[in-house]
Amino acid sequence: MAAKRIGATKIATAHNLDDEIQTFMLNIVHGDPMRIARTGPAYDEEELWFIPRVKPLCEVLEKEITLYAYLKGIRFQEFPCPYASAALRNDVRNTLNRLEEKHPGIKHTIYGSAEKIREAIKERKPKIHLNQCKACGEPTTGEICQACQLLQKIKAH
Ligand SMILES: [Zn+2]
Repeated sequence: MAAKRIGATKIATAHNLDDEIQTFMLNIVHGDPMRIARTGPAYDEEELWFIPRVKPLCEVLEKEITLYAYLKGIRFQEFPCPYASAALRNDVRNTLNRLEEKHPGIKHTIYGSAEKIREAIKERKPKIHLNQCKACGEPTTGEICQACQLLQKIKAH
């Protein structure tokens, strides 16, 4: 993968605060709260071949990022995340947006709660078995990593 070729020690992703709290709520709605331990601002796995992911924008609202990009004339990827189209995530997103409209700041409060819960359950974090992606060799919980799946989807368009 590109990150390994250039000797990167971290991979930064553009997840924003909205993405983070949607995932947090989805983990609860799906009855899978232990997954919360796996979705922080940085993930650190014991495996040495794993390049840690960091999310420098995870405490910034999506609308602030969009506004900033718009004002600065920064072009951004408008192709929506293929996982974002899931019906339940849409409902969660709309619900959170309505809550934020009525109670400004509530998204940050939910994010703070997610952080506290993550800290509390970290010790009990289940071990995940990672495989090597069949396409690029990066670690993945499935057969093909999400980056490769996304690339395949974009190429198919
Ligand atoms: Zn891959």
